[in-house]
Amino acid sequence: MIMQSFIGKVLEKEDLTPDVIRFTITSPTGFSFKAGQFVNLMIKKDGVRKPRSYSILDSSSDGERFHLVIKLIENGFASKVFKETKVGDEFEVKGPLGHFIFDEKSENKENWFIGCSCGLVPLYSMITANLEKFPGKKFYLVFSVKTKKDLILHDELRKMEQNNANFIYIPTLTREEWEGKSGRVQKHFPNNLKNKTFYICGIKELVIDVKEYLLDNGVDSKNIKFERYS
Ligand SMILES: Cc1cc2nc3c(=O)[nH]c(=O)nc-3n(C[C@H](O)[C@H](O)[C@H](O)COP(=O)(O)OP(=O)(O)OC[C@H]3O[C@@H](n4cnc5c(N)ncnc54)[C@H](O)[C@@H]3O)c2cc1C
Repeated sequence: MIMQSFIGKVLEKEDLTPDVIRFTITSPTGFSFKAGQFVNLMIKKDGVRKPRSYSILDSSSDGERFHLVIKLIENGFASKVFKETKVGDEFEVKGPLGHFIFDEKSENKENWFIGCSCGLVPLYSMITANLEKFPGKKFYLVFSVKTKKDLILHDELRKMEQNNANFIYIPTLTREEWEGKSGRVQKHFPNNLKNKTFYICGIKELVIDVKEYLLDNGVDSKNIKFERYS
């Protein structure tokens, strides 16, 4: 995929949870990316310009629009700008970028996607792009957030699970009891970790912990792919 630079206009801004928004942004016709890749947005505030990276959730089939899902961090530089962003505002965009993509050549039949909060975005993108393309493979998603209200794309994921026997959705809450699973992501891993591919995304702590756990339990490093958000 060729990296492009363009001005993207915000077409929609939706609240997915109290601190997560979804932007719909314009892109040049034919803009394409590999599921799991990201764009850089140039964020301007008070005369300061800083790039920030955001994974691409999905795009329209003509490539003229794409979605980003962004967690607003208390006092974060870009987060403060996004809070004030309105439909019609524009960003300098560069992308697609990155190598955190689905390993199409792997012979492993099970793919485990592990993420927290907005680390879900590239995992969701990879799962939706590859689930039907590889009907002989299973796709497991272990998605960790603090409380039920932090679950993003929950209804879409539940529906996807109902419609495809090869997709298993395992949301887990770390700070609230509910009817579903709770606790750290590792609690929900299979007993046998061999011959499976793991895709991990989210904050530094989650990525480091899960990588260490997998390596300590004998997973070959070639079967561990990851992207750190912090
Ligand atoms: C390849 C890549 C893809 C990314 N994709 C996404 C995405 O799809 N959605 C998304 O929401 N973010 C994503 N991020 C994170 C994003 O780039 C920013 O780091 C995030 O939006 C915070 O930016 P900020 O300017 O608001 O905060 P900053 O001013 O940069 O940071 C403020 C404070 O918050 C901490 N912090 C930064 N990120 C997080 C976090 N995620 N959780 C908790 N604390 C944090 C920082 O360490 C710092 O202490 C991605 C990062 C990378 C590297």
